[in-house]
Amino acid sequence: MNAYQGLQCEQLIAAGLQNLLLLPNSPAYTIRQSSYWAANVPLRPSCIVQPRTTDDVSRIVRVLTKSDGSVALRSGGHTQWAGANDVHNGATIDLGLMKAVTYDATSKLASIQPGPRWGDVYDALLTYGVCVPGGRDGNVGIGGFLTGGGNSYYAGLYGWATDNVANFEVVLADGSVVNANPTLNSDLFKALKGGSGNFGIVTRFDMYAFPAKDIWGGIRAAVRSKGDELAQSIVEFTDSNRNNPENAYIINYTFNPGSSSDVLVAHVLVNTNGIANASSFAKIQQIPVIMDDVKMRTMANMANSYLLPSGQRQVWFSHNFKNDVRVIKKAGMMHDELVEELKQVIPAGNFSTQCLFQPVPTLFNEHSIQRGGNVLGLGDVKDNALLWLITGTTLTIDEEKIMRDKLAKFSTDLDSYAISLNLKINWQYLNYVDQTQNPLKSYGQKNVDFLRNVAAKYDPTQFFQKKVVSGWKLSNMTL
Ligand SMILES: Cc1cc2nc3c(=O)[nH]c(=O)nc-3n(C[C@H](O)[C@H](O)[C@H](O)COP(=O)(O)OP(=O)(O)OC[C@H]3O[C@@H](n4cnc5c(N)ncnc54)[C@H](O)[C@@H]3O)c2cc1C
Repeated sequence: MNAYQGLQCEQLIAAGLQNLLLLPNSPAYTIRQSSYWAANVPLRPSCIVQPRTTDDVSRIVRVLTKSDGSVALRSGGHTQWAGANDVHNGATIDLGLMKAVTYDATSKLASIQPGPRWGDVYDALLTYGVCVPGGRDGNVGIGGFLTGGGNSYYAGLYGWATDNVANFEVVLADGSVVNANPTLNSDLFKALKGGSGNFGIVTRFDMYAFPAKDIWGGIRAAVRSKGDELAQSIVEFTDSNRNNPENAYIINYTFNPGSSSDVLVAHVLVNTNGIANASSFAKIQQIPVIMDDVKMRTMANMANSYLLPSGQRQVWFSHNFKNDVRVIKKAGMMHDELVEELKQVIPAGNFSTQCLFQPVPTLFNEHSIQRGGNVLGLGDVKDNALLWLITGTTLTIDEEKIMRDKLAKFSTDLDSYAISLNLKINWQYLNYVDQTQNPLKSYGQKNVDFLRNVAAKYDPTQFFQKKVVSGWKLSNMTL
């Protein structure tokens, strides 16, 4: 018996599940722990348990509900903060081996287990000639993305990725397996569309698929002095997205010494109908760039071409603002100052930053309403919004602390600026925020009450509130 092996792990072995366990100090355990995207995220679980089937998940849950000790849940392991998907001295349920992706031509549903990455999903679905709205980086995981919302290049056409789930197969705290869809367990169905891991373990996502088409898309990068023009362009894009819902656009003030010693303004252009140089992008394309990788390609190629590197320490903060150029310009200037300050305290080459804006027009929520609604609370947001995200990567713990202090201040200062101009939107995107933020609360009291009722109904013993400690918990938020 290994010194790190806890009682939970002994009980899993006693239940005949030893062939699903990875134990500390084994090579397989070490390899698996190094597969988390961010270096600050892996903890030291007493064991990792890797189900291969829904029945395995059910058996694991039946053991862990009865044993003492904390549990974590992991799909892709892409969430960037420690505690989101792993645990110290507990058992981590790792869904990474449940990788099946299938398509049923009769129902037009794609069935996706939580273990693959979006790049795998696009590749697999392409063999059937179909696609679903998913992650824009091919390495992003399925479970956290889809239960937290999921912003994709297809959001203008189909809304949040979670709104494209037709049915969730879920293992509840008593080990039973249920389906949640508009007719069966419809309250659970709605709660899972944004409510994250508070109710059960989703073992299969059945998603509405659409015919796969090549897309026209990629990254362009301009020098910093083009920032104001690009800021204006995303404001115009966001306000007119409903006229061109097949288009997606992101702008990103970024410092990445690996590719440039200057701050650049990268921007992503996508036409999901595969129309090259659509007239709606004409003005943006007139802005001169120093790099242009926009071309015809499959969604799989797009997702797998732009993989944010793993293995670095990450700090992310996110807010939402009304679609107004002032807040973008302000963030751009603050980002310039941030980079100069960081250069004074972190060695050159040891850090990078991104300060991104993504459109969240009210159009996205209209798609959600048409598909039965989610719990994100965006119905209360009456203005077209910009989803802002700042990320900072570093190499060491000390540098991460410096980065955290700087980005926390940046986030507060930008938020205060927006408040001063009445440009703040209270909603937060759960999949982007720092652990000090409060995304579930930002869904609004009505949604929080609904989520609490659903959690109490489907998990009366509070397994997913008290023992499963990873991720965003209703039991941990203050309202
Ligand atoms: C490089 C990068 C690119 C990204 N790109 C995008 C993007 O394009 N669009 C976007 O919207 N977001 C994006 N994100 C954010 C992404 O949505 C989140 O990191 C998301 O949580 C990743 O899902 P995961 O399966 O890896 O989650 P994990 O980190 O594995 O899990 C996080 C939490 O999700 C819950 N969860 C996971 N699986 C399940 C399940 N099967 N059942 C119930 N609950 C579950 C649990 O509470 C778990 O603790 C990106 C992140 C990164 C790092």
